[in-house]
Amino acid sequence: MKITFLGAAKTVTGSSYLVETKGCRFLVDCGMFQGHSKENALNEEPFQFNPADIDYILLTHAHIDHSGRIPKIFMDGFKGKVVTTQATTDLCAIMLPDCGHIQEMETEWTNRKRLRAGKPPIQPLYTFEDARNCMVLFDSKRYGETVKLSDNIRVRFNDAGHILGSSILEIWVEENGTETKIVFSGDLGNKGIPILRDPSIIDSADYLIIESTYGNRLHEINEDKVERFVNIANETIEKGGNVIIPSFAVGRTQEIIYDLHQQREKYSEKMKKLFSVPVFVDSPLAISATQVFRNNLDCFDSEARQYIENGDNPLDFPGLQFTKTPDESRALNERTDSVIIISASGMCEAGRIKHHLKHNLWRKESTILFVGYQAVGTLGRQLVDGAKKVKLFGEDITVKARIEVIDGFSGHADRDGLLDWIKGFKKKPQKIFIVHGEEEGMSEFSELINEKFGIETVIPSRGESYMVSAGKVIGTVEAPVESYSYKRLAVIDLMETLKEEFEELSELVKVDLKQEKDDVEIDEINVKLKTLEKAIVQVLK
Ligand SMILES: [Zn+2]
Repeated sequence: MKITFLGAAKTVTGSSYLVETKGCRFLVDCGMFQGHSKENALNEEPFQFNPADIDYILLTHAHIDHSGRIPKIFMDGFKGKVVTTQATTDLCAIMLPDCGHIQEMETEWTNRKRLRAGKPPIQPLYTFEDARNCMVLFDSKRYGETVKLSDNIRVRFNDAGHILGSSILEIWVEENGTETKIVFSGDLGNKGIPILRDPSIIDSADYLIIESTYGNRLHEINEDKVERFVNIANETIEKGGNVIIPSFAVGRTQEIIYDLHQQREKYSEKMKKLFSVPVFVDSPLAISATQVFRNNLDCFDSEARQYIENGDNPLDFPGLQFTKTPDESRALNERTDSVIIISASGMCEAGRIKHHLKHNLWRKESTILFVGYQAVGTLGRQLVDGAKKVKLFGEDITVKARIEVIDGFSGHADRDGLLDWIKGFKKKPQKIFIVHGEEEGMSEFSELINEKFGIETVIPSRGESYMVSAGKVIGTVEAPVESYSYKRLAVIDLMETLKEEFEELSELVKVDLKQEKDDVEIDEINVKLKTLEKAIVQVLK
């Protein structure tokens, strides 16, 4: 069979893999690219195959970077089934239309600008309605059930413990009398996170395709995270500021609420202050997402189920409020008392969070508290990396607020979690493809796998195809193709990065007018800049 890596190859977003066998073609995930403008532009590109030729999409979980292009492939002619778990279907039913809605809003904003510039309007990738329509494709299965896709293909969904309904896929393909088993890890959960079960252990594979978001990093110890959360919140409230928590409306938000609920006795003294201010979950999805959690109790771990059986609601606590309408959301920015706002999107790229950032980033008494992974190129990542100024709604906003990261809430297994999971294979894969990570982290993770297990690894590029079959050597089939517009956007991105670096350097030299730096250092910078100037003149010629 042939596997083509269409997304999340040497990047984190845009997960999508095409598997072609004799008589059946299917995708694993059909995700949206997120981050720099060049990644966003990839969403608009036509699919590198005819959508009508695809028989199935096997969906690992509902996050938009795995599911976000399903409405588009549906509009482009895909008529097969999206096979996934019930909870993933339920979550997609609210998340995909929400994504469509965000795109309509953003297109409207862009079009207002284009109109003023005399340019023709553009169309959104898809609308709220388009996304609602594609839900007819969804076909829900249970964890552990073996599903026959065709005479020669079977698939089984196993709990990945990453978000509600998330799955690790085991796929068996029979070709020319040989059966080959491939395993897609999907996004792998963090052990011991609230509500969800730990990721299932898979005992065998011929080939493994594994995520590596935290392939070279370790999370802080989980036990400390609630205490840190409470401390940060209390300190902010004392100063009269707001705590803004960018979070996926689905998943992390419910887990934070659950954690606070569960640990409120342990930290009862400390939490008094926190619970004295209102906590808002500000998202049009928030209430429905919490409802989806309640409808899928079978996906909960035993501890969370116990709570519910005892008549307790772990997804609620006194003072917790949900704001659904845009008016309610706007009203939050007019309040003068301290509030805690949990708002989407998690990487600050879209949705209501942008308004909350606009009203709080410049206030030194407020805190922006990150609890999830921030992809390269997103506004969230810029803030985590210490940006002093950011652009919001075309306006320069100075960053004065306290920026904090607690990654113990992360939905992803860290380096040791991933290695531990690989250790669980009794029959080790003959080759491991590493995907869904940042390039630097991937090579470190790859070396670790070689060292620890002696398994060969591949870090595929976007567009690369590999022939795989049990017991046989594999080889690359095609080199990746990049479109012209993508190349141009990559150049623009590079120039933007250089511009930012120049600004940073100039700041550095400016603050050094008191001559704390060695003259030699300044001379060195001067020589290097002159060389660069010559090179730029060459480029312009
Ligand atoms: Zn995910």
